[in-house]
Amino acid sequence: MDLSDSPEDAEFRARLREWLAKALPALPPKPSPDDWPARRAYDLGWQRTLYEAGYADVHWEAPPGLRLIFLEETERAGAPYVGAGFVGLLHAGPTIAAEGTAEQRARWLPPVLRGEEVWCQGFSEPDAGSDLAALRTRARRDGDDYVVSGSKIWTSHAEVADWCELLVRTDPRAPRHRGITWLAMPMDAPGVTVRPLRTLAGSTEFAEVFLDEVRVPVANRVGAENDGWRVTMVTLSFERGTAFVGEVVACRRVLGELAGRARRDGSWDDPVLRRRLGRLNAEFRALWRLTQWNVSEAQTVRGGVPGVGGSVFKLRYSQARQELYDTAAEVLGDAALDLGHPWVRDRLSSLSYTIAAGTSQIQRDIVGERILGLPKGR
Ligand SMILES: Cc1cc2nc3c(=O)[nH]c(=O)nc-3n(C[C@H](O)[C@H](O)[C@H](O)COP(=O)(O)OP(=O)(O)OC[C@H]3O[C@@H](n4cnc5c(N)ncnc54)[C@H](O)[C@@H]3O)c2cc1C
Repeated sequence: MDLSDSPEDAEFRARLREWLAKALPALPPKPSPDDWPARRAYDLGWQRTLYEAGYADVHWEAPPGLRLIFLEETERAGAPYVGAGFVGLLHAGPTIAAEGTAEQRARWLPPVLRGEEVWCQGFSEPDAGSDLAALRTRARRDGDDYVVSGSKIWTSHAEVADWCELLVRTDPRAPRHRGITWLAMPMDAPGVTVRPLRTLAGSTEFAEVFLDEVRVPVANRVGAENDGWRVTMVTLSFERGTAFVGEVVACRRVLGELAGRARRDGSWDDPVLRRRLGRLNAEFRALWRLTQWNVSEAQTVRGGVPGVGGSVFKLRYSQARQELYDTAAEVLGDAALDLGHPWVRDRLSSLSYTIAAGTSQIQRDIVGERILGLPKGR
């Protein structure tokens, strides 16, 4: 695989760099990390700006090389992250693009690209996390609607979401994986109650969602009834395979800043620290190369849907991120207790990375069974 910029890539990179230099100074001030309505407005505002400049669909439509250049250049310039747009842009939208009907794509995709609607993910339940196929939220058919009752947990951005990619059980008698359906549920439907959960960093980024006889039109079903497990695998492959790749660029920037700080404060003299930073640098470079391979393989071999390589990426990236911020805490010394420091907040949130989007143990199972061909462990 040739990893250097083609003439088309170089032209895209130069044009984007020039545009960012003009667009970023015009942004409003960043809202407080815990003010979710303000964060929603800020994140959607940035998405709107990208849309108007013709960059909004880079995650879906652009050739893989251009997408990665977009991530590199936006991060290098300090542009906002997708934020509240994470689910809509990086896994619900791509799932609808891959599995939805023409009407569904026309209804749901343009508002995501224009920065008008936020999605959340209603997959996990109190008794269905790693074992997602154990989910019990029930949907029964009533005319042109499903009537949904149950509860979801750890639903990121639910407080500010317009839509939820929701997994429900439509056939309780079928084998577990065969009775599940993927629905798009409007979050303002009667019967939806959102109760925010506070994390150890003080943020209410996720919530419990209670569903009491919520009516969801049958027309909002993506894929066939009881075929939701297959659609879920498409969503999860986007979530693990490509949704986090922009963050690798951010980690490489933090690593550079960390080395700079260590040089200034003298901790660079410690050979153990230097070795750790060197190893992390090699890790993140390798993760970026793996990303380039995964994205390019998804585009060229699999019609845009990432493969099982996403689990390899997710497994190693989530651990490398934790090691990066543990090292940052060592360099910060006493300042590592200051929750106002962005590295300290990122260190706390990095703890969740080996759990969110499927735990490391589950990724190891997937890698063992589907890549290494080991016997099923469960
Ligand atoms: C920050 C964050 C954001 C999240 N956002 C969302 C969201 O928006 N929407 C959503 O639906 N969910 C979300 N989740 C939930 C996430 O998907 C689940 O937490 C995750 O799948 C694990 O499920 P669980 O918490 O129920 O843990 P459990 O499944 O109960 O696992 C507990 C422990 O047992 C281990 N374990 C379980 N089964 C096995 C096995 N077969 N082999 C080996 N070890 C095993 C696990 O690895 C883990 O260490 C989020 C989670 C976090 C942390």
